[in-house]
Amino acid sequence: MDAGPRDPNEQRLADGIRHGMLRFFGLPWVDSSNPAEAYKDCRVVCLGIPHDIGAGGSPGARYGPYSVRGASGMPAAPETLGRAVDGGNIPAPLASARGMRDVVEKSVAEVLAAGATPFLVGGDHSVSLPVMRAMHKAFGPLAVVHFDAHPDTSKGMELMSDDPYHHGAPLRHALEEGLIAPRQLHQLGIRVSWDEDLTREHGVNVYTTDHLADRGIRMVMARVREAIGTLPTYVTFDIDAVDPAFAPGTGTPVPGGLTSREALRLVGSLAGLRIVGMDVVEVLPALDQSNITSLLAAALLWRGILASVGLA
Ligand code: MN
Ligand code: MN
Repeated sequence: MDAGPRDPNEQRLADGIRHGMLRFFGLPWVDSSNPAEAYKDCRVVCLGIPHDIGAGGSPGARYGPYSVRGASGMPAAPETLGRAVDGGNIPAPLASARGMRDVVEKSVAEVLAAGATPFLVGGDHSVSLPVMRAMHKAFGPLAVVHFDAHPDTSKGMELMSDDPYHHGAPLRHALEEGLIAPRQLHQLGIRVSWDEDLTREHGVNVYTTDHLADRGIRMVMARVREAIGTLPTYVTFDIDAVDPAFAPGTGTPVPGGLTSREALRLVGSLAGLRIVGMDVVEVLPALDQSNITSLLAAALLWRGILASVGLA
């Protein structure tokens, strides 16, 4: 048997097969327990957040990172991407929402401290709040581009959770905690109306799927990019922004959403912005059909990674 040196890609593939490991986009795996060493010289760090107790009655998104890794393939990375790695999953406690928030904020801060950009896969949408807290500490008030069927500005729902930080509320807390710069929450794909007072009070920019269809993606995204300018921009993508016909594997589907192609084009349209991080959340593999939701989630994350280095 030939024991000579191997192509690094082939070596990684062989390691993955040998150890039964899946990696986001076939990227090299690094040991995030030593983040300064693991993320040294990295441009992009992909991390999973397998946590879903924020989803109350529709659990299962904790399996999202595993499924999206399996669906993520090995796309050819452009030269300009620089070093990109899979840092594994953030070890968030499954049964403690507060514990999850602490660990996620700390883990994201470690990626940022190394000068890298985090790309995260949930998990339910409650995981995004601690990510935005870490982002705010590093960069100050953010622009947030939020793709979702729901505005996620819910108040506490006693029937769902005694924790007000459940998956229907991350954007409410981000607004109320001042993580988002004035008038810099841009919501796309929305087709449910919740707290219009809060939306008005904070000058939230809401683009419904009807609005996108009527005005067109090019015009709407030009306006979003112009409004954001050079602000540090966090992208949070709840997969239920996409129509259940294209993304059935999610806990709170709402008909009338984006097509896969529209979703990809929207994320690609963020190229040119100063993207400081992105998440894709609410993939619930047990409800999926033929893996299409995980495939799309992986494609959206990859498109976001390309957009972060200026490629549409
Ligand atoms: Mn949603
Ligand atoms: Mn959401």
